[in-house]
Amino acid sequence: MPAHAFICPNGNQIAIEDCLNQCQQPMRCMFLPTLRSVAASLNRNLNGASVTELIAGTRETYLKKMTKYAVEPQSVLYALHGSAVHTMHEQHTNGNMLSEIRLKDAITSGKFDLYGQILDEDEGVLGDLKVTSSYKIMKALGRYKVDVPTGQYYVSGQKKGQMKYKKELRDDGVRGVGDWAIQLNYYRILLEQQGLAVKRMVIQALCRDSSLRMAAERGIDQAVYLIPIRRISDSWIQRYMQKKAQNLQAALAEKRLPPRCSSKERWHDRKCKDYCQVAEYCPYGKVLKIANSEAKQERSPA
Ligand code: SF4
Ligand code: SF4
Repeated sequence: MPAHAFICPNGNQIAIEDCLNQCQQPMRCMFLPTLRSVAASLNRNLNGASVTELIAGTRETYLKKMTKYAVEPQSVLYALHGSAVHTMHEQHTNGNMLSEIRLKDAITSGKFDLYGQILDEDEGVLGDLKVTSSYKIMKALGRYKVDVPTGQYYVSGQKKGQMKYKKELRDDGVRGVGDWAIQLNYYRILLEQQGLAVKRMVIQALCRDSSLRMAAERGIDQAVYLIPIRRISDSWIQRYMQKKAQNLQAALAEKRLPPRCSSKERWHDRKCKDYCQVAEYCPYGKVLKIANSEAKQERSPA
């Protein structure tokens, strides 16, 4: 079951269709076309699971398929950033390129963004468009900060006599592209199953906070980065996705809630607290959300 209701800013719930027909509040919380776009982005594929649904935590995907859940339109606006970037590319491809075609195999299905001569003369480039944070780009580039001694010492205060340090960026860290790499490699496999050779995989990451000081501190000073993705063995990727597909199918068939998402899948709890659309229906997420909102209330001035 997909999202069926919107949560108004005052906490009331309203069926998405009813909201789109007629706002029940004194004024709409955003423009009607924006709400329509949000509603369209929530339509979920209920038959089978896509590559992105399998990459997410099995419990999250299960709940999105089995629960009639409600969302705050404002909290899912970020999904529209990605759609807007895809729209930018529509009708700007030519005969040497393919875009947005859904391919399917026995395990799953996936829609790649771009394939063909999208960078240079190379015809076999698989490209993916991401709109993401400077934090995620910093991780994907293997960039990290280290404390470097300045040779100067504090002359007063609690740290008197201690060495002063400054932050410096390094570029030789482990590249954190885990889920992106799995997603692109699966699209590669789907293309290759159609006889289309993939020579390179590249993510074009658009930084959504590139003008902020925080991004500069992370060494992210461009609006767009091209991030190459390495090939992962077909057998590893297929085994991994097959296992996730089987776990999801079994849970759906038995109507059994799968174990909670792994720590990585739930972004070490950050997703459960603020970003998981079905956290209210997940026993683990519910407890975290209550604790999180109590902590926020305690922090906010009376
Ligand atoms: S437009 Fe916003 S405030 Fe009005 S019914 Fe829809 S969700 Fe609620
Ligand atoms: S709340 Fe957390 S554990 Fe529960 S479904 Fe969402 S991401 Fe997974």
